[in-house]
Amino acid sequence: MKVAAITGGGQGIGRAIAYRFAEAGYAISLCDLDIDAGDEAAAQIRARGGTALFRPADVALAVDVETWMTETERQLGCPDILINNAGIMKRVDFLALSAVDFDRVIAVNLRGTFLCSQAAAKRMAARGQGGAIVNISSTRAYMSEAGTEGYTASKGGIAALTHGMAISLAPHRIRVNAIAPGWIETRDWQYSKRAEEPQHSEADREQHPVGRVGKPEDIAEACLFLADDKTSGFMTGQPIVIDGGMTVKMIYVD
Ligand code: NAP
Repeated sequence: MKVAAITGGGQGIGRAIAYRFAEAGYAISLCDLDIDAGDEAAAQIRARGGTALFRPADVALAVDVETWMTETERQLGCPDILINNAGIMKRVDFLALSAVDFDRVIAVNLRGTFLCSQAAAKRMAARGQGGAIVNISSTRAYMSEAGTEGYTASKGGIAALTHGMAISLAPHRIRVNAIAPGWIETRDWQYSKRAEEPQHSEADREQHPVGRVGKPEDIAEACLFLADDKTSGFMTGQPIVIDGGMTVKMIYVD
């Protein structure tokens, strides 16, 4: 059974990715900061007949990442796929943004992606059967709203780290790609005690050329595509934008 390791897999997009890979027959290893959410996601996969392991971990901490990867390998085997999904965003006016807040966002989003990728790639390289890494970036790597500098810098860093790792890991037959989601609705994919039915206005929908807000399932399907050599074996180092067309739409105010 192939093994998919997913960071921040307890809720939101990460949970949808975990469910989709479990449905496709992968054994799932999740890590998350939120223990209730991670336990619940793993239990739901097992209840549907799948295999799932959850370990609490902060992806910004090397010791947590190493413990999670060691446990994954011991219980399920070497990861075939790593999805670097865990991420945080803090909106703070740039003139008031502290170095501590900036560093924490970079540490989770960018350092975490580096630490998890290195820990998984070492194991994939040692096994010698290749593998795939998918990094969840953001359209905010390429465009911005005010007050999101830590987040946009971290996601731009992930885009660059993706092509860097793609080249460095190619000799080990490890492909590395990224997905840049636009607006993905996750309120209904949270830990059950906090989940809410999302409401979208007509304006929310209409500002997307495809006529709707994104769903975590949209990202999960693309991760599955990027994980499999049969569907994406000739792709490495690439970012895929999944945003309902929002970033290619010209905006003129009448
Ligand atoms: P989410 O609903 O907040 O879920 C993220 C999960 O990751 C949470 O369970 C969170 O735990 C966990 N997490 C946070 N920091 C962590 C850490 N240091 N170590 C391990 N787990 C951690 O987020 P999401 O909206 O699904 O976003 C998932 C990814 O997609 C992120 O990288 C995000 O930047 C990216 N993205 C999302 C959107 C969107 O519109 N939703 C758009 C573009 C990109 P806590 O709740 O305890 O923090």
